[in-house]
Amino acid sequence: MRLKLFTFKGGQHPHDCKEITQNKRIKDIPPSKIMVYPMSQHIGAPCEPIVKVGDYVSMGQKIGESKAFVSAPIHSTVSGKVVAIEKRPHPNGTNVLSVVIENDFEDKLLETINDNYNDECKLSPKEKIEIIKECGIVGLGGATFPTHIKLSPPPDKQIDCCIINGAECEPYLTSDYRVMIETPIVIFEGLKQIMNILGVNKGYIGIENNKPEAIDIMKKVASNYDGVEICVLKTKYPQGSEKHLIKAITGREVPSGKLPADVGVVVNNIDTCTAIYNAIKTRQPIFTRIITVSGLAVKEPGNYRVRIGTGFDDILNHAQFDAENTVKVLMGGPMMGISQSTLNVPTIKGTSAILALTYDECHLDKEVSCARCGKCVENCPMGLMPVQLNAYSKINDLETLKKYDVLDCIECGVCSFTCPCGNHITQRIKLAKRQIAASKKK
Ligand code: SF4
Ligand code: SF4
Repeated sequence: MRLKLFTFKGGQHPHDCKEITQNKRIKDIPPSKIMVYPMSQHIGAPCEPIVKVGDYVSMGQKIGESKAFVSAPIHSTVSGKVVAIEKRPHPNGTNVLSVVIENDFEDKLLETINDNYNDECKLSPKEKIEIIKECGIVGLGGATFPTHIKLSPPPDKQIDCCIINGAECEPYLTSDYRVMIETPIVIFEGLKQIMNILGVNKGYIGIENNKPEAIDIMKKVASNYDGVEICVLKTKYPQGSEKHLIKAITGREVPSGKLPADVGVVVNNIDTCTAIYNAIKTRQPIFTRIITVSGLAVKEPGNYRVRIGTGFDDILNHAQFDAENTVKVLMGGPMMGISQSTLNVPTIKGTSAILALTYDECHLDKEVSCARCGKCVENCPMGLMPVQLNAYSKINDLETLKKYDVLDCIECGVCSFTCPCGNHITQRIKLAKRQIAASKKK
């Protein structure tokens, strides 16, 4: 008997290179001596520093916050002294106001963080959302949208289910896979909290069928949780995109310009479940992320628990990367990741991976004129016309780009990946979208 696999139209199956790290147990990488906390690590308003140079801070202490509705506070992940508040390089390629802390390596924890609360049954959904907000939790799948807002949909949106995204469809990345294998119960406990907050009795966990060990473990644990179903997804990129995951699992289509809540669904990532669980159980803000450190230029590739604020240089040195043979360093996967011009940047809440790639792993072919082969159109998972978006981005025709629904592009990278002429289509689309967003603000 062949079981139905959940999937969607379009997309690609690039070689996933997951074999490099998928069997490596999660290990710790020590924090840096100098920890850097950019005040913008989320979608929404940046935070303002609430400490000053010379202050002593505890591990878990809030160091930045904003009064804006869409924002998330920033916390210190070590104890030590604030030594600077200044602009520092950010992994997104800009310079961002950051609080810099000299780590005293004593990990003096804020007193309010402990495991004596035992009050999760007494807390109302509203109180839980307040805790999640105070703990600075954001979507850890890369989007970094503040979780407290996601879990507070407007009253006119009738949410009837939630989905946990365990697809991890980006090549190289295996950190969610390891978390599912090593600490599955924490994921289910986080999901239980999400279901309680949203008042839903149906929760799905979507996992691609290239992760049989994780599927087996998660199915076994799911049998102890009412209303939770494991959905086995066809392995295809970008299966982990919210819209495609919702379509594959529920059959619902999120219309152009709308959000998952408009079709009654809230989606969260595997690591976000862990963060929610820790916050409600112990009031612990996000201290760490599990990240994949991989690429053929890394001698000790693996999945590592890393404190937010730790420098990329320290992480890559710990994983023994070969600087001479590194052609490109990415934050995130090869399809959607951001290329780094310096290693003097910190791990932020949205860092899912750091890849050090050799020449052979990078597609550095020269761009040549479009051959009109149609491959990008055939494979675009959003049903767009990347060939046209590329052409109009080149001449900066923003009005025509809007007519071609450029804003529906999820920046998945499939068009660039499939283009035999090496066109940097996604890159151009991204730039055009930023320009359209900037012109709207004006
Ligand atoms: S146009 Fe956008 S959504 Fe379509 S393949 Fe390219 S990056 Fe992906
Ligand atoms: S895949 Fe590349 S060459 Fe083919 S139509 Fe699209 S842009 Fe042109």
